[in-house]
Amino acid sequence: MVCKITIYELNGDLDSKLSKIVGKKNVSSEKFVLISYSEDSSPFEGKEPRVVVRPHSTSEISEIMKFATKTKIPVIGVGARSSINGAPIPRVENMIMIDLTSIKDIIEINEDSMTVTVQAGITWSGLIHQLKEKGYKLGFRGPYGGNAGTVGGSISSNSIGCGASANGGACDGVLGLEVVLSSGEIIQTGTNWRNNSSEFSGSYARYCTFNDMTGIFLGDHGTLGIKTAITLKIYPLPKGEAYADFGFSDIEQATKAFHEIQRSHLVEEAVMLGDANSIDLLASSYRSTFKNVKCILAVIIEEIDDELAQRKKEICEKIVRKYGGKSIGMFLSKAHWLNMFNLVQSLFEEGYWYNTCHLRPISTLPRLIETFHRLADKYKLKENKFNWIISALGVNHCFTSGWITIYMKDPLKKEIIYKVWDELREAEMHLDGVPYWTGKLWEPYVLDRVNPTFYKVLKQLKATLDPFNIINPMTFELK
Ligand SMILES: Cc1cc2nc3c(=O)[nH]c(=O)nc-3n(C[C@H](O)[C@H](O)[C@H](O)COP(=O)(O)OP(=O)(O)OC[C@H]3O[C@@H](n4cnc5c(N)ncnc54)[C@H](O)[C@@H]3O)c2cc1C
Repeated sequence: MVCKITIYELNGDLDSKLSKIVGKKNVSSEKFVLISYSEDSSPFEGKEPRVVVRPHSTSEISEIMKFATKTKIPVIGVGARSSINGAPIPRVENMIMIDLTSIKDIIEINEDSMTVTVQAGITWSGLIHQLKEKGYKLGFRGPYGGNAGTVGGSISSNSIGCGASANGGACDGVLGLEVVLSSGEIIQTGTNWRNNSSEFSGSYARYCTFNDMTGIFLGDHGTLGIKTAITLKIYPLPKGEAYADFGFSDIEQATKAFHEIQRSHLVEEAVMLGDANSIDLLASSYRSTFKNVKCILAVIIEEIDDELAQRKKEICEKIVRKYGGKSIGMFLSKAHWLNMFNLVQSLFEEGYWYNTCHLRPISTLPRLIETFHRLADKYKLKENKFNWIISALGVNHCFTSGWITIYMKDPLKKEIIYKVWDELREAEMHLDGVPYWTGKLWEPYVLDRVNPTFYKVLKQLKATLDPFNIINPMTFELK
């Protein structure tokens, strides 16, 4: 069912209705606000929302949803809008945009179950710092945009980033959720299915008793409900760590070493720079010292003591030597890990980002890189002053997130970048790739490939949970 806006809301009563729920100062329909909220960090354009609201509690969000369902006004929940895929920008006119960045508290750190429960709008950096003070770390630490990106936004869009090699992506650490449905009802998942949750120690296991209800909402790109609270696993801070950068002259061999290290569960993080151009951009000193190094595998090890960390590093070195690689230092691994969310900032100097982040089997990396180099030659990227980075981050011990990002300095060359970008995404899908977040970036490449039965079930789920199609309509074309 398509949303219809009634005349009464468009006549201006909307702001005062919403002000009654969240307070006047938390409602805005000023033009500059609406323009700014029609964008994320991608080059995609969206529609301006009709109004932006900033609720401060789950009950306020529940009231907004009840109002939206009653009046059939579409809503979209957003975090920092730091997405680089167009997911948080309105696809239809006159939406109520729910900015969730004011619900940002830690609700509970439970040292018994080793969990933290947070409000959805907390940033990854904010959470990490508060946990560190108590002696804990997260598994997945957040996307590289984690100074702004929120936990709610990341688990809604399957983010991959810091700590993914050992721990998987944002959704892999989730044990339970609190979600406000389109009806305004509030559901809690995991162990919190119990009716009398208040007299029991809360969320500590995801899989229990019934189906996994948590998973239905993870990666939904905000289409099935508004996430208000999330329980994540926590771990003690490491007492030992080791860093190593390994240089290779052959990408096939480097990939084999990458795979063996990943499948052996040796490291917290493993990240590869996939060609000489990428090394020049991020670690140029290595190329002047090690002339034939064509790719670098950087690993980070975290352990309960230094001895164990060093021993694991030695095992990694042994694997690397078997595949013709050698130890070249620790600049990249340290820069990667210790700068974390500040690592990619310097790349803004290279120009506007055109990314193609996606998941793929590690073994397919050489073919992907070869394909990209063919495109770079075909469109004379170097001569046209485009730069790029090819990198691959280990995910969950057995696959990888392939990141090819092209940087455009000269807007007059836009036509070229759009052709390369299109051909690259098509090739990535063809070569076994699967996007983790989708948005406007990937939908055109995904929706005509989706299995009909899978898509039918997804649509049925949407129709059940959001019968009037008011939440984030048009996303995944789930009309
Ligand atoms: C410099 C930079 C580096 C980045 N690095 C990475 C990276 O390494 N890995 C990566 O995956 N991404 C990366 N990104 C993209 C982005 O930061 C992440 O995807 C991040 O997780 C998005 O979080 P957000 O709070 O900005 O969500 P938003 O962009 O606001 O929203 C994302 C989606 O989730 C929905 N949503 C948001 N909050 C909720 C909620 N509480 N309930 C229901 N739906 C909700 C929105 O409707 C939207 O569909 C980067 C971006 C930048 C600018």
